[in-house]
Amino acid sequence: MSKVFKKIQIFLLMVVIIIGAVVSVSCSGKPTGPVEAEIYVEKIDGLSEDFIKGADISSYISQIDSGVVYRDWKGKELDQQGFFKLLKDAGLNYLRIRVWNDPYDAEGRGYGGGNNDVEKAITMGKLATKAGMKVLIDFHYSDFWADPNKQQAPKQWENLTAAEKGDKVAAFTEEALQQMLDAGVDVGMVQVGNETNNGICGETTWNNMAVIYQKGCEAVNKIAAAKHKEILVAVHFTDVHKEEDFVRFAAIMNKYSVDYDVFAASYYSYWHGTLDNLTQVLSDIASTYEKKVMVTETAYTYTWQDGDGHPNSLNKDTAGVTYAYPVSVQGQATALHDVMQAVTDIGEAGIGVFYWEPAWIPVAVYDADQAGSDDVLKNNQRKWEEYGSGWASSFAGDYDPKDAGMWYGGSSWDNQAMFDFNGNPLPSLKVFDYVNYGATAPLKVEQVAEAQCDVNPGERVLMPEKITVLYNNNATEEMAVIWDPEQVAKAEENGKGEYLIDGKVSVGEEEYPAVCKLIISVQNYVKNPGMEESDTSMWVSSDACAGVKNDSGNAKTGDYCLHFYSTTDMAFTVEQTVEGLDAGYYNFSVFLQGGDAGSDPEFKIYAVSGEERKEEMTGVTKWQEWSNPEITGIYVPEDGGSVTIGVSVKAPAKAWGAWDDFCLYKLK
Ligand code: CA
Repeated sequence: MSKVFKKIQIFLLMVVIIIGAVVSVSCSGKPTGPVEAEIYVEKIDGLSEDFIKGADISSYISQIDSGVVYRDWKGKELDQQGFFKLLKDAGLNYLRIRVWNDPYDAEGRGYGGGNNDVEKAITMGKLATKAGMKVLIDFHYSDFWADPNKQQAPKQWENLTAAEKGDKVAAFTEEALQQMLDAGVDVGMVQVGNETNNGICGETTWNNMAVIYQKGCEAVNKIAAAKHKEILVAVHFTDVHKEEDFVRFAAIMNKYSVDYDVFAASYYSYWHGTLDNLTQVLSDIASTYEKKVMVTETAYTYTWQDGDGHPNSLNKDTAGVTYAYPVSVQGQATALHDVMQAVTDIGEAGIGVFYWEPAWIPVAVYDADQAGSDDVLKNNQRKWEEYGSGWASSFAGDYDPKDAGMWYGGSSWDNQAMFDFNGNPLPSLKVFDYVNYGATAPLKVEQVAEAQCDVNPGERVLMPEKITVLYNNNATEEMAVIWDPEQVAKAEENGKGEYLIDGKVSVGEEEYPAVCKLIISVQNYVKNPGMEESDTSMWVSSDACAGVKNDSGNAKTGDYCLHFYSTTDMAFTVEQTVEGLDAGYYNFSVFLQGGDAGSDPEFKIYAVSGEERKEEMTGVTKWQEWSNPEITGIYVPEDGGSVTIGVSVKAPAKAWGAWDDFCLYKLK
């Protein structure tokens, strides 16, 4: 080795050391402890450096085309590259983009939901790559949304066999990936199918579905090998709370030797069980089959407001939904943090989390209470149709008549975005960065929990003295509360029912509103009033179209209800005779919900005591919208009397619904 060469070596070594020193300076420029911020975020210990911190931004181009403006932290308008850089700077390192084969009708009009075809994926993929983020391509193998409810094959493949579709899937996947890689998109992962619990590409038997998975995965692996690029292949399922299904899906992938790397789950805390369950189910799959696992979709509501005039998926009164976090920016931040923590807890196999559609904000801000709101809505509707920035356009109706054809419109997700309605990023977007070292914010009350007070028959109303206050740092405290005495007195006087009582809680110098749900119950003389007991002999039904059913989705409370449905016109009564009543006055009430009862149905309740018969009309509107008819003042003249209570329905074929929680109680 010549001296000169050695000198060059030493020189190079020094250059390396100097560069290294510069890098370590910039590294040490990163915070080592919690930073001061607007939100509180706990550091996630054991978070690996390459943990995927991702977001699905598929609707972005259609939003921009519609005139949506995104802004930086100071409110300044961002150009396209600026938007992607903002995401990168907020801590994101991966973006997810869905791809539909041909989301257009015969006239070339887009189906909406972002009109996400290969071309759009390339446009957004290049922007992501240039900003320094990797890309997950999410092939739905459909021309529109694929999820547990629909997995329709692309129009052009509709009449093909599974084997023929498999070949098409392979060719389409290869060609699309080839184009993306040639365009310089840094594809790091590819999803073969989206939420494929019940099908993929129009196939619904596992034998046939397996062909699609196999061909899709093979195609990705083939292109990756040809391009000498590491691309992970993911399969994707949802409803992780149904643990047995998840275990079964993983076993099926194994049985059919599907050559994938990542088993991905959607996780929305409203629907998908606990985080402990998420960690456990994914851990089991990872260790059993030696796979990586991740959460490929999550989100959380930060406001109850609707920003664009199209109803949102998650609302205050959405049936069957509980909100585990405050509906606020802090709540959204904590929810996202917790999912990242749950996936980190899996260990090395847990590779990351994607937030779903944080940028799907209103085209223009709609506020029903503002003058000119009708014009705003019309303008939004025009844009949704023209640029595909709503969840579906009317043009999707031919392909998807039952869903898009009926309910097309705007964003049902604007209250789960991580940008406000005007395009300003929410502090929660920085969770992706803050989880590295934590963030602290001035302590403040985030939420006062709703209290509940149950008063049994004959008891006095005793309102709770303390109420749970939740702080932004997740700490809770039981604090003294004062309830409105007039509201309490009124409820007590009224008797049976549900009341919302207002209260005040003082924390430091500040006063916060509190609410208590007061439920005053009475002695109910109806036997098996909610149909929960197995002996239903006390109920007499005049027709088989109405009967006791195990159906919690239609029940008011519990698992059972008195359900009715018929393919022909229906006329029935269901009744019970209650005996051994003391003399006095009684009320009878019941809950009813249902729909499709035509223009002129007859729903009524009745009560018969001796010669006296009382009736009250009622009706149905829609699923889980309960009416609560009541007959008052039913007179029982002597001790040991009886009252027959019942419901009567005359309605056209296909009407449906449920009665539940019958109650006959004595007035004071
Ligand atoms: Ca909306």
